Amino acid sequence: MSERSRQFYLEQLKARLEYYREIGIETLSLGAGPFQIAISAQGSVPWLSASPSKTAEPEPAETGANWQAFPGAKSLSLFETPLTNQPSGESLETIRADLGDCRRCKLWPTRTNIVFGSGTHEAKLVFVGEGPGADEDAQGLPFVGAAGQILTRIIENVLDLKRDQVYICNVVKCRPPGNRFPEEDEIATCSPFLFRQLESIRPRIICCLGAAAIQTILRSKVSVGKLRGRFHEYRGIPVMPTYHPAYLLRNPEAKRDVWDDMKKIKVFLNELS
Ligand code: URA
Repeated sequence: MSERSRQFYLEQLKARLEYYREIGIETLSLGAGPFQIAISAQGSVPWLSASPSKTAEPEPAETGANWQAFPGAKSLSLFETPLTNQPSGESLETIRADLGDCRRCKLWPTRTNIVFGSGTHEAKLVFVGEGPGADEDAQGLPFVGAAGQILTRIIENVLDLKRDQVYICNVVKCRPPGNRFPEEDEIATCSPFLFRQLESIRPRIICCLGAAAIQTILRSKVSVGKLRGRFHEYRGIPVMPTYHPAYLLRNPEAKRDVWDDMKKIKVFLNELS
């Protein structure tokens, strides 16, 4: 590995550990192995300690409980699947077919259409929003209303891409009544489908648009304002959190920050090619 790559990965690791410490995680278990990473309270360089980890392997009962808590998950939970950079091999069509005429949570009676996602399976960049609004519910497509127009401008004018070169989806696939924030049980029920979409595509980068996507993908309740502007990580994929386009409709002064975040994504994508 070149010195430049080594430095890059070291910086990524430091940022990731810093972030874990920020959200209150102080010890990480690495799979079922005997190693633990302790994150220093000062956020300085972490150290590896070899200690037999009794908690690393989940009890069978815990695994069973996961399956019941997430009725949408037909595959192993992400904590049980090996981390690889390879797409899962499951097609988006299979995941959509599995979702079916979903009635797993309390959002179904008021929806018109399920909004699964749009774009290409080959996407290097996936945007994850919160949930469909009225226009999306009517058309069955994500980000086609006012917030969607902003997203389209960002994709075309800042990233120099077309909408059909990326993939766009949401944490919940049915419109929450009155566009309210999706509730915890709705997210818990629907997010396994999002995770399967992400594993199917395995993009090079994920952009979380707003708090629901951040809470679901980064498992953090830290505010968007504090998390945005730097890369985080989801199962080996860099994640850029930023403000939701709808937030920009109410707070146009935040456009500058979003533009800055998108430029970081653009630089990252350009460096891939
Ligand atoms: N807001 C979202 O979070 N998603 C959409 O698809 C539209 C608006």
